[in-house]
Amino acid sequence: MDFKDFRSDTVTRPTPEMRRAMFEAEVGDDVFSDDPTINRLEELAARTLGKEAAVLVPTGTMGNQISIMAQTRPGDELIAGDHCHIVANEGGGAARLSGVSCAPTPAGQVTAADVHRLVRAVNLHYPRTRLVCMENAVGNGQVQELEAMQEVHQAAKQHGLLVHLDGARIFNAAVALNVTAKDLADCADSVSFCLSKGLCAPVGSVICGSAEFIAEARRCRKVLGGGMRQAGILAAAGLIALTRMTTRLAEDHDNARLLAERLAELPHVELVGDDMRINMVFFRITLPNFDHAGLVAYLFSRGFKTLTPSSEGVYRLVTHHDVTRADVEEVAEAIGVYLKGSVKK
Ligand SMILES: *Cc1c(COP(=O)(O)O)cnc(C)c1O
Repeated sequence: MDFKDFRSDTVTRPTPEMRRAMFEAEVGDDVFSDDPTINRLEELAARTLGKEAAVLVPTGTMGNQISIMAQTRPGDELIAGDHCHIVANEGGGAARLSGVSCAPTPAGQVTAADVHRLVRAVNLHYPRTRLVCMENAVGNGQVQELEAMQEVHQAAKQHGLLVHLDGARIFNAAVALNVTAKDLADCADSVSFCLSKGLCAPVGSVICGSAEFIAEARRCRKVLGGGMRQAGILAAAGLIALTRMTTRLAEDHDNARLLAERLAELPHVELVGDDMRINMVFFRITLPNFDHAGLVAYLFSRGFKTLTPSSEGVYRLVTHHDVTRADVEEVAEAIGVYLKGSVKK
């Protein structure tokens, strides 16, 4: 069966145009900086985000970890949102790989007030606060306002701190905020973003920053075993992701809004969060003793892949290039059918 996959935007497959570009890509040994396709991608990424230089890495997680490693020393502390990817979804990588501890903010996002409150005074007992990590779009589907990011950046600079932006979905955030990715990147010293989520490339993330930082990031990439060779094959898809796929993200956002509207019309469905501005919809089923596994299995039998809800009972559906408006209507309808059956039982 050709499944419609709502689990994540990481499931997007390379487009036919990407596959052709990959087939034809001119390649070389990137550890010698000899891969012309990677060099072109890195130049374009740096230019797009308004930074001096960029480096291709295999994953967004490695992009974040390299950015931390290159800008800290063991024993340093970073400030980051409590539920952000760096804190919650990278296996404790900052502690394990860079020897860096984390001062988490109480909410998901970092605010300027958090920076002022969490920055450590200079004292030999204290860890040295070094880095503030923001995330936008935020993993919970929210988007942080440009102005709030600018305030965080300003607060960080006031205290002599560096700023990293986990921009895995920076283009979703830019579209939602109606600003450029560069506007968001201007709030950070280092930025990493994913080519492999909504932008449909099969593999890859890019880190952008000053030439000096990127030189250090290349060292760290080698340390972590991320120095790839003829990865121009991947960069060729990445170039199309950056030139053709960023502007179409509004379509995914529209589809997510449509899905939210359809779900809101169903009895026993409660949307979670009122600011759905990117490609994610969160909801809860309000029926007592509801058979969640049963719903997921039913949707699967109808050709839809979805994740089981979180421990708090929250479902997340994600729209992307490979699901259409019609698919969105159909998955909402299927959920409605299952709910009707559940009420009768
Ligand atoms: C997906 C994601 C990452 C990591 O990307 P991988 O390529 O899966 O390692 C980092 N940060 C955020 C916010 C993400 O959503």
